[in-house]
Amino acid sequence: MQFKDRVALVTGGGRGIGAETAKVLAAGGAAVAVTDMDLGPAQETAAEIRAAGGRAIGIACDVTSRGNVDAAFEQAVKEFGRLDILFACAGITRDNLLHKMTEDEWDAVVTTHLKGSFLSAQAAQRYMVAQNYGKIVLTSSTSALGNRGQANYSAVKAGIQGLTKTLAIELGAFGINVNAVAPGFIETRMTRATAERMGVDFEQMKAAAAKVIPLRRVGQPKDVAHVVAFLSSDQASYVSGQVIYIAGGPKA
Ligand code: NDP
Repeated sequence: MQFKDRVALVTGGGRGIGAETAKVLAAGGAAVAVTDMDLGPAQETAAEIRAAGGRAIGIACDVTSRGNVDAAFEQAVKEFGRLDILFACAGITRDNLLHKMTEDEWDAVVTTHLKGSFLSAQAAQRYMVAQNYGKIVLTSSTSALGNRGQANYSAVKAGIQGLTKTLAIELGAFGINVNAVAPGFIETRMTRATAERMGVDFEQMKAAAAKVIPLRRVGQPKDVAHVVAFLSSDQASYVSGQVIYIAGGPKA
């Protein structure tokens, strides 16, 4: 129970990577505030954690709204007494080639990922600095290295790497570690939706991706969740400002 007496807040915790990470942190003993855009999925993840014997609550929180974010952290701390771990995972894609990308597609992705990570980290550090203890994990992607049709998403995922390193520098003096995970192809609703949008069968898309991944398989949410748990643990207490690629190989 490496997270006994620890409290975590996960954004985008209703589905995919966020949901799995919430469960892994809870299995390690953390009380988890599961937040998501919609209350339903957040509550579902929280209910699964409680059914497995863990502690969790579900909270609706749109990470693009400062009011929502601040209120979610307040509720989490009111419920569980402190805040030790933030996993900022909420995310969307609005893929398009540059010449077709609309301003709305650009703005939605920039606001969700970059402003969302900024607001979440800013809210978290208020509690963590006072405790002189905290673990923040942000979510980048192999797309940070460039990906056709993802000018918006690649830009924000690269931006999150800069944010991670800067926050590690600013917050280190307060006992706060800040790192990022950068997943490759992970099987979630997000990648399934990409296949649908491209008119490609998801199983075929996975098989094609697996052929060029050194470990010859696509990732699962638990592959990311366990790395987030490690970065959120005291075993990683001298790791900060790092970006860990979780892609079945050395590059995208
Ligand atoms: P999912 O779509 O399964 O989960 C993302 C969750 O984030 C959803 O529950 C979604 O809610 C929520 N969300 C979206 N916008 C907001 C918002 N404004 N406020 C709060 N919650 C929001 O995706 P994944 O689990 O695949 O992705 C999780 C993270 O991992 C993202 O940051 C993504 O960019 C990143 N990632 C994913 C990869 C992959 O291959 N799957 C690869 C690399 C990075 P709703 O259902 O309402 O939209």
